[in-house]
Parts: sequence; C-alpha cells; structure tokens
Amino acid sequence: MPTPPSPPAQRNFNAFGRSARRVTVGAVFEVRRNGHVPAPEAVDEVLAAIGLAPNGRMWDCGACGYDTCRAFAEAAVQGRTTLRSCPPYLSRQTEQAQQQAAVDALTGLASFRVLRDRLGNEVARSKRSGEMFGMLFVDLDNFKQVNDRFGHEAGNEVLKSAAQELGVVVRSTDFAARYGGDEFVVLLVRTGVEGAVGVAEKVRARVEAMGRRLNYPDGLVTASVGVAAFDPAVPEQEDVLVVADRALYRAKAGGRNRVATGDN
Ligand code: SF4
Repeated sequence: MPTPPSPPAQRNFNAFGRSARRVTVGAVFEVRRNGHVPAPEAVDEVLAAIGLAPNGRMWDCGACGYDTCRAFAEAAVQGRTTLRSCPPYLSRQTEQAQQQAAVDALTGLASFRVLRDRLGNEVARSKRSGEMFGMLFVDLDNFKQVNDRFGHEAGNEVLKSAAQELGVVVRSTDFAARYGGDEFVVLLVRTGVEGAVGVAEKVRARVEAMGRRLNYPDGLVTASVGVAAFDPAVPEQEDVLVVADRALYRAKAGGRNRVATGDN
C-alpha cells in the first residue's frame, strides 16, 4: 500500500520547489559549539562582569552583535568574542577607574576619594588647633533638564564651568571636589557657619550668572547649597558631610537656587 503524503500544515516549499519540514534548531537537539557546551560557572562569571542595567535586569542591548547578554557570554567563554566588545562593561570599567583616580577627568577638581582623605585630615587638624572648618554641599538644579534639552555635551560644559566658578570663589588653602554627577563639595579651612554661608551665597550667585552668560533660559542653570561647619568644641559630632547634605536637601525643598544650613 503506498505511503500517504504529509499533511499540508507540516510541509514548506523552498525556493527550488522542494518540500522541507520546518525545524527549530535547538528544540530538537542540544546546540554544541566547537564540540563544547560552555561551562555555566564561566558564563555566570562573564555575566557578572557585564553587570545589570539600572532596571535590575540584563542589558540585552545587542550592541555587541549578540541578541542577549547570555548569548554573548557563552560566545565569550568559547573564545569567539571578548568583553571589549561590550560597551556597558567598558563604561563600567571607566567609571571604576575614574572613582579610583585622584582627579576628576571632566572638571579637573579632586575626586571623592581624595575628598574623604582630606576630610579625615581636616577633622584631626581642627581638633588639634581648636579651629572650625566649613563645608558646602553644592548641587546644580535642573541638571537633568539641561542634559535632556541641550544634550550631554552641553551638560558637560555646564559642569566644567561650575567647577571653574568654585575655583574662583575658594581660597588656595580651601579644597573643592566633585562629589559625583552634578554635585560638588567645598571644604573651607578655619571657617565657621557664618563665613561658610557667605561663600555659599557667592557660589550660588556665580552659578546663576554663569547660566545667563551661557545663554540658558532664566532659572534653568542654578545651584542649591547646603552649609555645615565642624566645631571641635562639640563632642560626638555627626559627620559634617552628612549635615551639609541634609542642609542641601532643605535648600532644594525650599525652592532651589538658595543656600541653607541645618537650622534655617
Ligand atoms: S553589548 Fe554587552 S550588555 Fe549589550 S547585549 Fe552585548 S554583552 Fe550584553
């Protein structure tokens, strides 16, 4: 008895008119590349090096030419690509290197790591000498809007210009650092709260004038400043940076483009 033909739903016709079954590779048999299945631990290691996107999931951005991070990681384990082909990995590496560097590459100010060292020294010096020192926490207002509306180049220009304004205001014995993103910290030696508020007001006014000079709409490029001071006569003090940060929050909550201390 002759064999009946396959039902139409199971048949496809290729360009040469021959029939062929539609087959999903991988659903039928396990894919082995170069005769090896990549070791899961090694794949996990590559995935850990890539890291996760801000939403907590794998990036899966496809910039490396692979559809998913996992496909890329398997290929990397098999020696068919390297992490140098992964832009998120490279930018993470750059960020880490910058954090470790003493100088912030964009603004030329000291880095946060140097700031922490300097702060420790200044607390010790203040306790020895009995002199207060002031701390400013400066944050550019609406910085995300500047980036969104005018581009990252413009944003970088604003950061560089703001750093220059800080450089004009502080004395050579003071210390200015980029804390991160659009935040800066200034340490003012031998300065109490009142003197620090005076400097903070100059910083605020100079950043506002800078925004106008760079032709941004009024009120877009401004700065809020939180002020604190370390008083060696007060035992068991809170971290002065934390106090200045809280004052900054008050300046923001009060409407931005203003100076605030912990108690005003
Ligand atoms: S570029 Fe990197 S993060 Fe993006 S899919 Fe490829 S491996 Fe993943």
